[in-house]
Amino acid sequence: MIPVAFDYHRPSSVDEAIELLSDDAKLLAGGHSLLPAMKLRLSSPGALIDIGRIAELNYIREDGGTVAIGATTTHHQIESSALVSANASALAQAASVIGDPQVRNKGTIGGSLAHADPAADYPAAILALGAEIVVRGPDGARSIPADEFFIDLFLTALAPDEIITEVRVPAAEKSAYVKFPHPASRFAVVGCAVASAGGAVKVAFTGVANAAFRDSGVEEALSGGLSEESIAAAAARAADGQEVLADHFAGEEYRRHLAKVFARKALAAIA
Ligand SMILES: Cc1cc2nc3c(=O)[nH]c(=O)nc-3n(C[C@H](O)[C@H](O)[C@H](O)COP(=O)(O)OP(=O)(O)OC[C@H]3O[C@@H](n4cnc5c(N)ncnc54)[C@H](O)[C@@H]3O)c2cc1C
Repeated sequence: MIPVAFDYHRPSSVDEAIELLSDDAKLLAGGHSLLPAMKLRLSSPGALIDIGRIAELNYIREDGGTVAIGATTTHHQIESSALVSANASALAQAASVIGDPQVRNKGTIGGSLAHADPAADYPAAILALGAEIVVRGPDGARSIPADEFFIDLFLTALAPDEIITEVRVPAAEKSAYVKFPHPASRFAVVGCAVASAGGAVKVAFTGVANAAFRDSGVEEALSGGLSEESIAAAAARAADGQEVLADHFAGEEYRRHLAKVFARKALAAIA
């Protein structure tokens, strides 16, 4: 399939990219979600703004107890970062199970979060770790807490004229991400991320609903700490009260069951 014709821009700075953004233009990072959508003509932007080579957007560094990750950092850079593994292992684990090596070498964290596929891996880890998404637009920069970022199917709190510049991930004592991959696409049929910090455990799911979400029922059941009993009781509440996705591969009942199984696996991994 061939996409419709488009103009191509390659800015060398974030400011230049913001100036080029318009209703008819789209940012291009790794291209591993946008280009397939363009080839299927689900998306037909008149211009692409290639941010893939903007050096100021590609880094992983420690910043006052937080791991700061530039938007065009690839999945492979994240999975192989010792800093990410030591402080936010759920994120490194999520990166390591995305697609295949080719996808991980080109795809970026900013592109994945902006795309907000309901079956993407990062959103669960970003929510459980309590990350912040830093964005910049014509009116300056702002930081969006993960809890406010994922709104609905392919819909985030990002404005059309904003660019994700950085993801800030606070260090967790322990964290883990496990998923049941779709056998063909490798996307998460169900993915569960858990993170503990300061005695509290956060639990988030991807693949289960229209958007990734924190599961307050599971988190409440863990308020007394992590034990074999509390993990079993908490996992049994996974996805309670949630409207759950269903498709020909995994119906609602099966997905709910997988949410419970993978909550238990993820919690056992940090217990
Ligand atoms: C075969 C295959 C298998 C895959 N399997 C998985 C999987 O198992 N798990 C998973 O999570 N994902 C999977 N993916 C998706 C992959 O992770 C993509 O890399 C990712 O979703 C998009 O990142 P990208 O850098 O390629 O973004 P692009 O495709 O370049 O862009 C995606 C969208 O984000 C916007 N965008 C990009 N960067 C920014 C930014 N900095 N600020 C604002 N908007 C921005 C673009 O305008 C576009 O709308 C798979 C993809 C393929 C092709």
